[in-house]
Amino acid sequence: VRARVMQVDHSPDVTYEDIGGLDDQLQEVRETVEMPLDRPEMFEEVGINPPSGVLLYGPPGTGKTMLAKAVANQTNASFIKMAGSELVHKFIGEGAKLVRDLFEVARENEPAVIFIDEIDAIASKRTDSKTSGDAEVQRTMMQLLSEMDGFDERGDIRIIAATNRFDMLDEAILRPGRFDRLIEVPKPEADGREIIFKIHTRNMNVSDDVDFHELAETAVDASGADIKAVCTEAGMFAIRDDRTEVYRQDFVDAWEKIRLDNDEDVGSSL
Ligand code: ATP
Repeated sequence: VRARVMQVDHSPDVTYEDIGGLDDQLQEVRETVEMPLDRPEMFEEVGINPPSGVLLYGPPGTGKTMLAKAVANQTNASFIKMAGSELVHKFIGEGAKLVRDLFEVARENEPAVIFIDEIDAIASKRTDSKTSGDAEVQRTMMQLLSEMDGFDERGDIRIIAATNRFDMLDEAILRPGRFDRLIEVPKPEADGREIIFKIHTRNMNVSDDVDFHELAETAVDASGADIKAVCTEAGMFAIRDDRTEVYRQDFVDAWEKIRLDNDEDVGSSL
């Protein structure tokens, strides 16, 4: 069970250069996660504890997982990922034990960055206490809180959690000493989108007629993940046309396709 929910990655390959448009967020993550891992003596000498847990919140596909991976890479820490939804939905009755295992695995792999994606799945405000499985979710969350309260903040383990549903979170996990550093990771503005387009076309054979500024202006409301999908799709359009060079029109067509796919997703969830 452990192996199926926990992914331990000893050298995640994401670097800070792979992340576009999140300079402020990156700065904060570096201060709160990288500094305590790299220079714990600074915190000791100043006499403060670094934040225990950092919470990244924002829409899907905006780079939250990337930020966590990049900081693990930069500090040569293992990256241990677990999804909140898997904790409680896949292995009913195992949630609390899995949380204990998670911290044990982290201690075995120090220095380590623990990344808990979809934290809302185990830390939502309780709306209906009669819902089946609710007690289980509650136990899982209590275990997480107790692991966080119990561990030495100056140790070599940092915790990053992520959610798309900040409004749903139980306040207990936001108390001081827990996830008390909140970092919003929004969808990129036009400038950010341009940088992200450039990042994802770094290895592509792109024609001179492609104007990244124009692409970024067009791709209103796109997330980083959408932009990556547009770049791949543009490449596919070129291949379908038996070309190895990707034209401006391929990107335009790709954006249209991704945009329509996204709209369909929205429609079907209503
Ligand atoms: P979710 O909330 O759905 O888990 P997330 O915010 O963790 O999403 P990531 O997994 O980090 O999103 O991003 C998905 C992919 O989208 C990345 O692997 C990357 O290719 C691309 N991407 C997202 N945001 C950015 C960004 N800011 N810069 C560059 N690429 C990005």
